[in-house]
Amino acid sequence: MFNRFVASILPYMPKKFVWLFSKRYVAGKTIDDVLSVSKMINGNGMCITVDLLGEFISTPEEALQNKLNYLEIVDQFTEAGIDGSFSVKPTSFGLLIDKEMCYDFIREVVQKAADANNFVRIDMEDSRCTTPEIELYLKLKEEFPANVGLVLQAYLKRTPNDIEEMMRNAHSPSQPLNFRICKGIYIEPHSIAYRNYRQVRHQFLINLELMLKNNIYAAIATHDSYLVHESLALIDKYKVPKNRYEFQMLYGVTPGLRDSILQTGHKLRIYVPFGKHWFGYCSRRIKENPKMVSDILKALFIRG
Ligand SMILES: Cc1cc2nc3c(=O)[nH]c(=O)nc-3n(C[C@H](O)[C@H](O)[C@H](O)COP(=O)(O)OP(=O)(O)OC[C@H]3O[C@@H](n4cnc5c(N)ncnc54)[C@H](O)[C@@H]3O)c2cc1C
Repeated sequence: MFNRFVASILPYMPKKFVWLFSKRYVAGKTIDDVLSVSKMINGNGMCITVDLLGEFISTPEEALQNKLNYLEIVDQFTEAGIDGSFSVKPTSFGLLIDKEMCYDFIREVVQKAADANNFVRIDMEDSRCTTPEIELYLKLKEEFPANVGLVLQAYLKRTPNDIEEMMRNAHSPSQPLNFRICKGIYIEPHSIAYRNYRQVRHQFLINLELMLKNNIYAAIATHDSYLVHESLALIDKYKVPKNRYEFQMLYGVTPGLRDSILQTGHKLRIYVPFGKHWFGYCSRRIKENPKMVSDILKALFIRG
């Protein structure tokens, strides 16, 4: 109750104060910051996917700026030899302003990543974006079959059908589909999304099983130890080779679970957000998980 109250007043708190605890979940504000965090994560045996924060845009100029920023990120990560890929949110490239422009901008980023033998994953946003983001993925996959992937959300009732439809039209042994499966973070209506915690877990596993038994590359994005355990059982059941799946977690979240996955020899990728728009990202993380408010209070007393 108290945590929820603090989460609701967060937007009115001084940013400097919120940064004290946010720095645990955000790699910093500049490319230099995220490069040094990425090197540290690589040094600990994990790869990364980097996300430039800042999805709320309203003009084509802002979308262009985001594209330029991403091109710079791809260059710098390639030059620094980071073991990591890139995550993009199509709305920050103007998906809701001009779909063609968004496609062209993301295509340039994917092209640059492909030239460096790297990979771009299209994050999934709210349900207005589901169909256009699937279309965007499929169009890019035709040109860059090994360099682009998509996120699917277990809470959406449509997801198993989406997987089956994409399997029929865009999946082959030499050019497999590549999905990150997550629970889904946006608040969606009951008519299109499961909201019950156990049901979302159940759907997560149904979707994951569909992926694993059909040789779709699976990036398993969760901090839910039950789901990690059940995912490992599915990997075992279908004898999925190590090059067909990975686990993914957000920077700074559930380090104990992260270490246990690593120690048992599975690939783990950390999603590393950074950028000057860190405040919006952290506010959303706290609304999603008000228990994090305790971290704010600790940060008041334990600095560094
Ligand atoms: C790598 C990655 C990429 C993602 N990409 C997308 C995307 O493209 N689209 C989308 O809609 N959603 C995305 N998500 C978010 C996802 O949909 C869930 O909202 C989020 O992961 C919480 O679900 P969970 O499976 O971790 O289970 P939960 O039951 O929510 O969490 C399990 C436990 O993990 C801890 N935990 C979970 N989340 C946090 C947090 N943010 N901060 C602190 N502790 C936490 C808590 O201790 C919690 O009890 C992504 C998540 C990850 C890990």
